[in-house]
Amino acid sequence: MKTLICKKPGEFGYEERAIPVPGPDEILLRMKMLGICGTDYHAFDGTQPFFEYPRILGHEISAEVANVPEGSKFNVGDLVTVSPYFSCGKCIACRRGKTNCCTAIKVFGVHIDGAMQEYISVPLSAVVPGNGLTAEELALVEPLAIGAHGVGLAQITENDTVLVLGAGPIGLGVISVLSSKGAKIIVSDVNENRLSFCMDKLGVSHLINPLKTDSLAEVRKITGGDMATVIIDCTGNLNAINGALPFLAHGGKFIMIGLQKGTIEIIHPEFHKREAMLMSSRNALPEDFNEVIRSIKEGLIRPMDLISHRIAFGEVKESFYGLSNTDQSLIKALIIFD
Ligand SMILES: [Zn+2]
Ligand SMILES: [Zn+2]
Repeated sequence: MKTLICKKPGEFGYEERAIPVPGPDEILLRMKMLGICGTDYHAFDGTQPFFEYPRILGHEISAEVANVPEGSKFNVGDLVTVSPYFSCGKCIACRRGKTNCCTAIKVFGVHIDGAMQEYISVPLSAVVPGNGLTAEELALVEPLAIGAHGVGLAQITENDTVLVLGAGPIGLGVISVLSSKGAKIIVSDVNENRLSFCMDKLGVSHLINPLKTDSLAEVRKITGGDMATVIIDCTGNLNAINGALPFLAHGGKFIMIGLQKGTIEIIHPEFHKREAMLMSSRNALPEDFNEVIRSIKEGLIRPMDLISHRIAFGEVKESFYGLSNTDQSLIKALIIFD
């Protein structure tokens, strides 16, 4: 089978390898589609912290069952996706059901080799049934589940006004999930293409470009002075995070999905007087995958709108650099295996 290996930052190479032999409690899947994530671009660029090379990238999986282990609920040819966060099952987080932040987590395609290969063998417990979704829709479930997890932590109701900072792939996932909750949504991004996308495809009417307007005054106007009851950061940008507190309503929640490397600065009296809640949101749980799949089936989330590029697996090596570095129209690129 064909595999694509990221040998070192900036260098991909195709290699022929044997089809993996599933171990106990594993299942063999044949890849159909693979979404490319910010993590993959950063790993290729050499800017992903704690990343080791060589590595096979890819964790946004749409695949079909290639080989059925004895007694499994799956049939050959079933479409599935994979929850790519393999947890230990023993640590404090796992024992409390928070497998998404396992102390020994291994993310497929990040800490261990991932899905840029024609066949993968993964733990049976990580496989999520496709439940009537198309192969393309299934490749979008993981990034949407990341959004659903952050939105879930905030326990959004239709009475909330949610300020989403950053409308990249994760932000767009968050906005897609939020749209199904009936909350008022405000989106802030410096990229006009992304803001228009939010308006045209996701129906968001409150859009702010902080480079062009006084965003604080804008949010004050939109909320009638109340400010946002929830802020979800999807930028992973230190300045955006440090500057977010004035936008938060008293009694509000600030959820950080985006990740950056620096130290966050919080002015204590500003934080305190709001009785604000600050939470990070890491990966996603199986129930987030299930919620996303259900919402896609019910038409509440439309993942197809997010797909801007499709690339054959054989052409990834040639086109990857241009995708991440020069293509302004990029929202989500899918690798097609057949
Ligand atoms: Zn991803
Ligand atoms: Zn664990």
